[in-house]
Amino acid sequence: MRIDLLAELSNAHGTSGREDDIAAIVRRELAPSVQQIEVDPLGGLCGIREPTDVAGDPVRVMLAAHMDEIGLMVTSIEDSGYLRVIPLGGWDARTLVSQRVVVHGREVIEGMVGVPPVHTLSVEDRNRAPKLEDLRIDLGLPADRVREFVRPGDVVTRTRTFAPLGDLVSGKALDDRVGVFVLLEAMRAAAPSPVHVLATATVQEEVGLRGARVAATRQVPAIGVAIDTCPSTDGPGQNPAGGTTLGSGAAIRIMDASAIGSHRLVAFLEELAIERDIPHQFHVSDKGGTDTQSLQLAGVGSVAGCISIPTRYGHSSIEVCHPADIQAAIDLAVALVESAHRLPLDA
Ligand SMILES: [Zn+2]
Repeated sequence: MRIDLLAELSNAHGTSGREDDIAAIVRRELAPSVQQIEVDPLGGLCGIREPTDVAGDPVRVMLAAHMDEIGLMVTSIEDSGYLRVIPLGGWDARTLVSQRVVVHGREVIEGMVGVPPVHTLSVEDRNRAPKLEDLRIDLGLPADRVREFVRPGDVVTRTRTFAPLGDLVSGKALDDRVGVFVLLEAMRAAAPSPVHVLATATVQEEVGLRGARVAATRQVPAIGVAIDTCPSTDGPGQNPAGGTTLGSGAAIRIMDASAIGSHRLVAFLEELAIERDIPHQFHVSDKGGTDTQSLQLAGVGSVAGCISIPTRYGHSSIEVCHPADIQAAIDLAVALVESAHRLPLDA
């Protein structure tokens, strides 16, 4: 596994609507695996791989992973020089406290999110979780200097270097750079097959599954499969029973708050996993969502589902995955690309 590429993807900055840097890496890595790359008006990339045989109306299969990561946007600069921000995507404000961040202004500058020392807080404040609107970004500069570099509308991302954690890997933005990695590696590994493969790196997922809607409308896939993280339930204080755990394989997503995966596609992915001896588990939840919803509902609709990589501490400043699950997700995506023509679409 090319861990260096996963590290590069995880470390790259690109929040919703500002995916240019990460898109450049994706384009470089995707180009050798496809005949053509189309860019949509939002900045999404679609690598198109032609079928081995064009006779008989080959099925169009979209694999989609989102390039954007959660971030923040500056709304104002206080006279103290501190930045006020609003969220781009779903944040747990508690996990931003005492973190370094990067402000993408006229120049790229480092900042941090600081809070008052605990012993100076009232009992009430000490027992209260901070809200994002209470937090400020400190650049260590007076307001007049800050205003030279930063203005409202500039975006802020986390800064966290990808690193091993025991048997696991940790970094920022593994949601969904690990999915982008799975997409790229699956395209490299998959043998030529009798389907049109639409390898898509979407934008603006974290603010409402937006880019995938445009991608699917443009490309009209018959089968649409998102590749994204899913929350594992094996973190501290969680009950793993019935959820996904790190190291137990690729997660076939059955349902979340945004979509009910096609039961035929779920069964087909399970069949492929068994056939190829790929470790797998299932994700079932009434919370969260992925690009699956947009793939399923855009245009004339598609038979849609999601291959997930179980992730601990998602949407925080440090996210954690298991390399074995990443490999299993790659293997399952390869199996799908090579076998999608076997999925009956009119059942
Ligand atoms: Zn995601």
